[in-house]
Amino acid sequence: MTYLYNQNVFKIPRGTRDFTSQEMEKRRYIEEIMRTTFMSFGYNEIQTPTFETLELFKAKSGQEIMDELYYFKDKGNRDLALRPELTAPTIRFYVEKLQMEPKPLKLFYFGNCYRYDRPQKGRYREFKQAGCEIIGTDSPEANAELISLAYKILKNSGIKNLKLNIGNLTILSSVFNQLKITKDQQKYIIPLIDKSMFEEVIDALRDFGIENKDAENLVRFLKTTEIKFIKGFIEDDETKKELEKFETILTLLEKAFGIKDFKIQMNIVRGLDYYKGLVFEIETPKLGAEKQLCGGGEYDLISLFGGKDAPSAGFAIGFDRTIVALETENFNFPTKNIDVYVIPLTEDFIEKAIIIVQALREAGLTVDLDLLRRGIGKSLKYASSIKAKKAMIIGPDEIKQNSVTIRDMDTGEQKLIKIENIKNSIR
Ligand code: AMP
Repeated sequence: MTYLYNQNVFKIPRGTRDFTSQEMEKRRYIEEIMRTTFMSFGYNEIQTPTFETLELFKAKSGQEIMDELYYFKDKGNRDLALRPELTAPTIRFYVEKLQMEPKPLKLFYFGNCYRYDRPQKGRYREFKQAGCEIIGTDSPEANAELISLAYKILKNSGIKNLKLNIGNLTILSSVFNQLKITKDQQKYIIPLIDKSMFEEVIDALRDFGIENKDAENLVRFLKTTEIKFIKGFIEDDETKKELEKFETILTLLEKAFGIKDFKIQMNIVRGLDYYKGLVFEIETPKLGAEKQLCGGGEYDLISLFGGKDAPSAGFAIGFDRTIVALETENFNFPTKNIDVYVIPLTEDFIEKAIIIVQALREAGLTVDLDLLRRGIGKSLKYASSIKAKKAMIIGPDEIKQNSVTIRDMDTGEQKLIKIENIKNSIR
């Protein structure tokens, strides 16, 4: 089969993106900051496959997840799915191979995820997450450290406008129980709570036959940002203990980790099935509908996946949204330019030029070389288009003096430099 040029036969699939080298430079830069921050908190990097068994995600999130999944049968008739997130794969990995590792186990990862979402700015069908899981401790300090790590990663990336909201699902569940809101009723109102549609929550509860006073109390609880108010609400001892832990986490976060600008937000719901205890979200208000950069908390998945029960918590940061957030704030991404572009004046000087180029590359410089045998004028134009800092011209006059000409591409100033002094001169 032959294809005609410029007919646009093939198009990129909906919700996916190509990245130019300039975009990749930004992404690598931010990824490196994130990686360094994870590691500074004692986390170690892992990688899991892009696809897993379909059952894994169904076990975690139920049949409903199917709408959002890319799934397929392979040639051996196995049901597989592209991962929509990385917590389930990480816990699958832990249960299969890492249970005997010393605790706490602190794992982080970067990986592409796939969701059949409706694409828009900041929401894609293929997107990248940066995330981590901590397994084997649920101490308040572990939880406070986890929140502080998520916050620090986004701060270190350079985002200025961040909002950190912290809630607790064990406390929320106990309030549901106190008000005798059944599991089915919770299922119905949770999406409304998630969207802060409190009027609708009250209407729904009224329809379920919950007393108006109780419905209004629930909404008051969901809206509060005061720990004192929550304390007044909780009746059973088990939940009071959870509340004490919650308070310790917030105190550590503020007094020890130095993060003061967070808000208690009891209407953070996330997946109420397997998340429990602490939950938190970080958003950047400027991004509108796709403002959520990070979500995390404590969850129970290990025993569900057949492992020996151990406490676990983690978070996932939307990598692409982090980049969009930085661009929205006009962040100045550093660019790495070619240090020197080498131009042999004629064919006779190609070999000599390559020898010099190789020596400079060995010395750690970023060096490119004219490979098109263009004239000097065109070569200099090209050097300027790739933003080379310097150009090096190698011709008969230069070689006679065992030298090269080095041109500063900003000022246009040219100097004859002895070959043995090139490195120092460029540095
Ligand atoms: P989640 O696993 O749903 O809690 O997602 C964690 C983070 O991943 C979110 O806070 C977003 O920043 C990011 N995210 C989720 N879905 C998408 C998507 N379709 N496109 C881009 N980023 C996403």
